Amino acid sequence: MTDKYVYSFGDGKAEGDSSMKNLLGGKGANLAEMCKMGLPVPPGFTITTEVCDFYYQNNQQFPSSLNLEIENSIAAIEKIIGAKFGDIDNPLLFSVRSGSRASMPGMMDTVLNLGLNDKTVIGLANKSGNRRFAFDSYRRFIQMYSDVVLGFDHYNFEVIMDEKKQELGVVTDTELSVEALEGIVELFKQKIKEETKKDFPQDAKEQLWGAISAVFFSWMNERAITYRELNNIPSAWGTAVNIQSMVFGNMGETSATGVAFSRNPSNGNKELYGEYLINAQGEDVVAGIRTPQSITINGKKQSGSDLISMEESMPKIFAELVNIYQKLELHYKDMQDIEFTVQNNKLWMLQTRNGKRTAHAAVKIAVDMVKEGLIDKKEAIRRIDPESLDQLLHPTLDPKAKVKIIGNALPASPGAACGMVVFSSQDAEKKSESKKVILVRLETSPEDIKGMHVSEGILTARGGMTSHAAVVARGMGKPCVSGASFIQIDHNAKFFTTQDGIIVKEGDVITINGSNGDVILGEVPTLKPNLSDDFKLLMGWADGFRKLKIRANAETALDCQTARDFGAEGIGLCRTEHMFFNEDRIISVREMILAEDLEGRKKALAKLLPMQERDFFQIFKIMAGLPVTIRLLDPPLHEFLPHKDQEIIEVANQLGVEIDYVKRRNAQLKEENPMLGHRGCRLGISYPEIYEMQARAIFEAASEVKKQYNQDVLLEIMIPLVATKKEIEILKKLIIKVELEVEAKQKIKLNYLIGTMIELPRAALMADEIASEAEFFSFGTNDLTQTTFGLSRDDSAGFLGHYQNAGIFKKDPFAELDVDGVGQLIEIAVAKGKATRKNLKLGICGEHGGNPNSIYFFHKAGLDYVSCSPYRVPIARLAAAKANI
Ligand code: PEP
Ligand code: MG
Repeated sequence: MTDKYVYSFGDGKAEGDSSMKNLLGGKGANLAEMCKMGLPVPPGFTITTEVCDFYYQNNQQFPSSLNLEIENSIAAIEKIIGAKFGDIDNPLLFSVRSGSRASMPGMMDTVLNLGLNDKTVIGLANKSGNRRFAFDSYRRFIQMYSDVVLGFDHYNFEVIMDEKKQELGVVTDTELSVEALEGIVELFKQKIKEETKKDFPQDAKEQLWGAISAVFFSWMNERAITYRELNNIPSAWGTAVNIQSMVFGNMGETSATGVAFSRNPSNGNKELYGEYLINAQGEDVVAGIRTPQSITINGKKQSGSDLISMEESMPKIFAELVNIYQKLELHYKDMQDIEFTVQNNKLWMLQTRNGKRTAHAAVKIAVDMVKEGLIDKKEAIRRIDPESLDQLLHPTLDPKAKVKIIGNALPASPGAACGMVVFSSQDAEKKSESKKVILVRLETSPEDIKGMHVSEGILTARGGMTSHAAVVARGMGKPCVSGASFIQIDHNAKFFTTQDGIIVKEGDVITINGSNGDVILGEVPTLKPNLSDDFKLLMGWADGFRKLKIRANAETALDCQTARDFGAEGIGLCRTEHMFFNEDRIISVREMILAEDLEGRKKALAKLLPMQERDFFQIFKIMAGLPVTIRLLDPPLHEFLPHKDQEIIEVANQLGVEIDYVKRRNAQLKEENPMLGHRGCRLGISYPEIYEMQARAIFEAASEVKKQYNQDVLLEIMIPLVATKKEIEILKKLIIKVELEVEAKQKIKLNYLIGTMIELPRAALMADEIASEAEFFSFGTNDLTQTTFGLSRDDSAGFLGHYQNAGIFKKDPFAELDVDGVGQLIEIAVAKGKATRKNLKLGICGEHGGNPNSIYFFHKAGLDYVSCSPYRVPIARLAAAKANI
C-alpha cells in the first residue's frame, strides 16, 4: 500500500498509465494512457483499488487523507475546465464510474450528471442556453443516483415518466417538453421524500461521497459476486472509482453518444463496427431503450436499417473517430472497444479497452494482426483462450433441414441452439436441470446472468448488438438473437406471439440461429462445424510451438476419423469395453459373463474374437501408422448384465437359460463397491482367457493391416488398474505368449509395447518397480483423482457443489486436475518410473487431458502426450502450445 490514493488525468497529462491496471482498474489506467497519447479525454481522477480494499478492511471507512487528495484533484479539473463543482452559475458536473482490473460489463453502477441540484440546474441551463437539456440531465441524475446510491427502485420513476407521456400524448422521452421535464423532476423529488422521508441531497460534495461509497459498496453486490464467480475474478482485486468531468451527448442534434469496436467482434472483419445515438447519454445505448443507429454506412446496410449512420450525419467527427481508433489499435496492438461522446460537434473519448469477441473473431483478428505485422505468432497464440475454441466446434444448423422460420432479428452471438422456451431466469435455472432451455426475455439485465448461464441460448425482444444480452452471451459463447421486435411477450401468462399470430408457450421447443438471427419453431438437426482457414493456420502455428503430443480417446471408426480431422496424433485410450456394448455383441458378452466355467466362457469368447478383431482392424487402418493404445477390459463384469426384470427375461430367452439362473449369477457378481472391486487387471488375473482373447484380436488385426496395406501399427497394449508389479508381470507374459502364437501363424513380426495405467496411488508410489515391467505409463487421472481423494466419481456430483461453495474445492477436481495432491503423485511416478526406465513413454488419458489448466501442468511434469475426447483435440493443441510459450 502507498499513501497515494488518487491519480489525476487531463489536458494531455496523467499520473497513471496503462501498466497500472491493478491499481487504477482497466478503465482508469486506459483513460490515463489515452490522455498521455494526446487524445481528447475529459479531465478526471481515479481513486485506486487499494481504497476499495481499505474500505472493506476498515468497516466501510475511507483513509483519512483521501478527502484532501480528492479536493486537490477537483481543483485541478476546475482549472482545466473553467467551471466549479457546486457553483450555482457555472457548475462543473461529474460522472462516477466503477472500473476493476478485469472488465465486468454492466456489473457495477454508474452515476452521471453528478453535481446537479435545484440551483445548479439553472446555472447549467443558462450556461448551455438549453434549459430542456439541463432538466433532462437533472431528471436522469435523480433517477441514477436514487437507484445506485439510495437503493430506490427505478420502477417508481418509470411509472411517473410513463404517466407524464400518456398525459401529454407523446411516445418517446425526446418528445417531452422542458415544462414536462421540470414537472417530472418535481414529481421525482416528491416521490423520494415520500418513500425515504428525506429530501433528495442537494449538496454536491455529499452527492459525490454518496456515489463513491456506492461504487465501492457495489463491488460486493450479488450480481458482481456472481459475475466474479463465473469468471474466476478474485474479490480481493477490488474496484477503482473513476470521476470525470461530464461531457454531454444529450445537448441536441449536434451531440451524440456511442460505442464501437475497432474490428467486428462477431466475425473479426477489419472494419469499425458500432452504434450511436444522437442526442442521448451513454446509458441509453447500453440499456437498449432506444434503437441504436449504425456508425458506418456499411454497418447500416448489413443490419438492413434505414436510420442514418454517423458516417453520414457527422462526417467530420466520424473521420476523427476513425483516426483515433486506428491510433489506439496501433498503440495497444489489439482490437479496441471504445466509448465516446460528441458534445456540440466535439468528440470526447470516454473509454478504451481490449474488446471482447467471439472465438471466431478472436482467431481471425489474431491471424490478421500477425499478417499485418502488429503482433508475432506467439502473441497470436497467447491471445486465444483454448476453452473458447469450444465455440468454433459448436454445431450449426443442417441447411438441408426443413425449417419454419417465425422471424429474424439481430445475430448477436453465433452458433445454433434448440430448447424449450422459458420466460424467466428462475424458470431457466429450474427447468434446465432436466431439459435444454432457451431463455426468452424482453431484454436481459445483470440479474439474468445465472439464467443465461444455464440456457442453451438467449432470445430477446429488444436491444442491439451491444446490448447486455449480446455482450454477455458472446462472452459465454452462447447463441443469442436479440432485438426480436416481431415477438410480443406476456411474461405473466408465459407465452409470446409473433407478428403473424403464432403463439409459442412455455415448454414449446424453438431453435435460434445466433449466426444469422433466425428464430425457428421446433427442433432443427445440426451439423459438425466447418473450421476456417484462419483457424487451421493458427492451429498449425500452435503445433510448431508445442512439445506435448496430442492424442484422442476413441474407440469407434467415426470417433477416430473425427480425432484425426481435428489433428490428433494417435489414440491414447481405446476403451475396449465400449465395443462390448454394441447391440450385436452384448449377447455374447453376457453369455461369457454368465458362464459358470472356463469352457462356457471360452465358447462365448470365441464368438467375440472376430468382432473385436474387425473393430481393431478399422481403427488401425484409420490411424495409419500413428500410435494406438488399446486398453484391455476394465469395468466390473456386473455392469454388462441385465438388471430390470423384463431385461432379465429377455436375456434368459435369448441364451436359452433359466430366468433364475440369470438372477443367481447377477446376485453372485454384484459388488457393494464395484469401483474398488473386481475390475481392471483383476479381471485379467481371475479370467486370463478374456485378456487372451483381446490380445489375440489385437495382434490378428494388426497383422492383417500390415498384410493388406503394408502399414505398420504402432501398437501399445495397456493394462488397467494395476497396483503391483506382479500383476503386470503375469499379464505381460500372457500377452507375449499370444503374440508369439499369432506371429507363428501369420508369419508377421509385430512391434508393440506393453504398458500400464497409473490410476491408483500405490501404482504411483511404486512406479519404479512397475516400470521394470511396463514400457509406458498412461495416467488415468479419473480413477487417480477418485482414489487419491477417496471420492466417488459416480456419486460425488451431488455434494461437490457444497464443497465448492464452502471454498474447499476451487474447481471440480474431476474437471481440473488437483495439481497439489494428485499432481504430486504424478510427479513421483514420473521421477520413479524414469529412474528405472529412461525411455519410459508417458501420457495421460483421464478427462483432464482436455483441460487447459491441467495440460499446463502435464507439460511441466514432462509427459510426452495428453489424450482427450476428439472434440477437445484442438483445445489441447492450443493449450499445449501455450504451455510451452
Ligand atoms: C481414468 O481412470 O482416468 C481412465 C482414463 O479410465 P476410465 O475413465 O475408463 O476409468
Ligand atoms: Mg480408469
